[in-house]
Amino acid sequence: MTTDSTNTELFERARKAIPGGVNSPVRAFGAVGGVPKFIARGEGAYIVDEEGKRYLDFMGSWGPLILGHCHPEVIEVVQNKAALGTTFGAPCRAEVDLAEMVLSMYPALEQVRFVSSGSEATMSAIRLARGATGRDLIVKFSGCYHGHADHLLVAAGSGLATAGQPSSAGVPKDFAALTLVLPLDDEEKAKALFAAEGKRIAAVIIEPIPANNGLLLQHKEFLLTLRRLTREAGALLIFDEVISGFRVAPGGAAELFGITPDLATFGKIIGGGLPVGAYGGSRQLMAHIAPEGPVYQAGTLSGNPVAMAAGLATLRILQREKAWTKLEEMGALLEKEVKAALAGVTTPWDFTRVGSIFWLSFQKGGAPRSAEKLDQNAGERFKPLFHTLLERGIYIPPSAYEVMFLSLAHTPQDISTFAGELRDAVNATAAA
Ligand SMILES: *Cc1c(COP(=O)(O)O)cnc(C)c1O
Repeated sequence: MTTDSTNTELFERARKAIPGGVNSPVRAFGAVGGVPKFIARGEGAYIVDEEGKRYLDFMGSWGPLILGHCHPEVIEVVQNKAALGTTFGAPCRAEVDLAEMVLSMYPALEQVRFVSSGSEATMSAIRLARGATGRDLIVKFSGCYHGHADHLLVAAGSGLATAGQPSSAGVPKDFAALTLVLPLDDEEKAKALFAAEGKRIAAVIIEPIPANNGLLLQHKEFLLTLRRLTREAGALLIFDEVISGFRVAPGGAAELFGITPDLATFGKIIGGGLPVGAYGGSRQLMAHIAPEGPVYQAGTLSGNPVAMAAGLATLRILQREKAWTKLEEMGALLEKEVKAALAGVTTPWDFTRVGSIFWLSFQKGGAPRSAEKLDQNAGERFKPLFHTLLERGIYIPPSAYEVMFLSLAHTPQDISTFAGELRDAVNATAAA
C-alpha cells in the first residue's frame, strides 16, 4: 500500500496513542476493513485527505454539516468570535441568541438548555424525565441510537422480556434493567407494555426518523400511538432529533409529522460543526432543572461562545437560503438518478429517503422499518462496494447501516457523479 503511506503511517501512530486509533469507534473502518483516511481539510461538498486525495462527501461528519464544509460565513463568525475569547464560564450573548432562535424554530419548546454533545442531551433529558415524573423506567426502541449514556446503551432482552440488557461492558445489569426495549413499528407490543407498566414509565425516547441503523422509516400512526400511550400514562415522550432536528424541516420531525413531544434533544446541526447539544421542553418541565429545580445538570464548556455563534450562523443561513425546499429538491433529484442508475443491476437494493437523509439497503424484500428486519449479511455486500467508491473518490459512511446526507454544497453535477459511480461500483462488485 505505497500509495496510502501517509494515512497508514498516521493510523499506526494513532493506534499507539489512542484506543483503536480513533476517538469514536466507527471511524476505525472496523466494519469495512482497511486503513481509515485522515482528513486534512474540507471544501464545500468535498474532503481532502492527508495524501491530497479528494472525495465527494456524503457523510457530512455524520450529520452536522448541512451547509457543507467550510461555509465562508460560518468560518468568518468562528474566527471573529474566537478572537474575542473562546470561553468565559459566565453567561454570554450568543447563548441567548441561539436559544431564542431554537425556540422560534421548534414550537414544542419554551425553554432550551445547551450542552456539548448529543449524548449529553439525551442523558440529561432522561434525567429530567425521571426527576419530573418521579418514575424510573424508560422505554427505548431497538435500532435507535441515543448516544453513549449508560441507560441508553441497552439492547432488547431475550424472549418476551422487555427489560434491557447492557449492550456495552461497563453498564451495570441493574441499571440496564430500568430501560425497557421495544421493537419499532409494532403498536401491539407498545400497547401491551403500557398496559402492564404504564404507570411506572417516566419516558419513551425515540428517534422519530430512526437514522442510526439504516433509515427505518416509521408510520405516522405508530408515533401517534406513542404520543397517546405516554399521555394517558402520565409518561413523557422524548423525540431524539439529534439527526432530524433542523434537517428535515425547521421544526424537525415534530413539524414533519405534526406531533408535539414533551421533550426534544438536539446535536449535530445545532452546533454548525462545533460541539453543541441541547434539550428542551415546556417551561414547566424545564423548571425542574438546576438552578431552578432539583435535577442537576451542568457543563464547563456548555454554551461556549464560539460554538453558539457557529450554530446561530448555520441556522440563520438555513432560513435565509430556504434550505429545506432546496434540500428536498436535491434529495428528489438524487433519488431519481440513483434509482435510474441502479435499475438494471443484479444486486438487491432499496433506496429510502427523507429530505436530505438517504439510505441504500442492500437486502431483499424492500426497506425495513425495524431493526429486527435488517439483513445482517448486507454488510458483506457493502464492504467491496465501499472500497470501490472510496477508490473512485466517493466518501460514504464506512458501514452498511449508516445513512448518507446531502448538504447545500452538493450540486446536481455531484449527484450525477454519485449515481454514475454507484452504478459502476455495484456492477463491478456484483461480478466479483
Ligand atoms: C449522533 C446521535 C446521538 C449522539 O450524539 P453525539 O454528539 O455523538 O454524542 C444521539 N442521538 C442520535 C439520534 C444521534 O444520531
